[in-house]
Order: sequence, then structure tokens, then C-alpha cells
Amino acid sequence: MSKERKFKKRHCKYCENKVDYIDYKDIAGLKFTLSERFKIMPRRLTGNCKKHQELATIAIKRARQTALIPYIIDRKNVVDSPFDLIR
Ligand SMILES: [Zn+2]
Repeated sequence: MSKERKFKKRHCKYCENKVDYIDYKDIAGLKFTLSERFKIMPRRLTGNCKKHQELATIAIKRARQTALIPYIIDRKNVVDSPFDLIR
């Protein structure tokens, strides 16, 4: 119950920004679907629509393969804004 309250406003951020295609190189766009530890957030938490969630999932997996984002984050290396580490 509390989790649902937290994410009450279920607006797909990609629909809001009118994104048609999510590029795997666009890490800022993938951010919406990634947790702070670079895990893919489930749709019930992000509020993404099905279409965009699938696009984002594909893009994130592609970005992982191309080493743009890490697969896992070391517990010691967890920082407030891990996206600053990406160059
Ligand atoms: Zn959408």
C-alpha cells in the first residue's frame, strides 16, 4: 500500500516527453527506468506504459552490452549520483 502511494502519479515519462524511440546511447533517457544501482525498475514503480517499458528494457540491455552502464554496482562504490561516474 505504501509503495503504491509513493508512486501514485502514474505518468509515463517517455509519453510526457513524446519519446518515440529510446536510444541505448541516451543514458539520460534510460535513467527513468533505472534504479540508483542500475537495475531495471519494474513498470509498477516507474509508471511507464508497456510500450516504453519494453523499449527501455531493450535499450538498457543493449547499453549494458556496450559497457555504457554497469551490470552491477559494487556495494562499496554506491554513491549518491552514480550517473556522474559515467563518462
Ligand atoms: Zn509511454
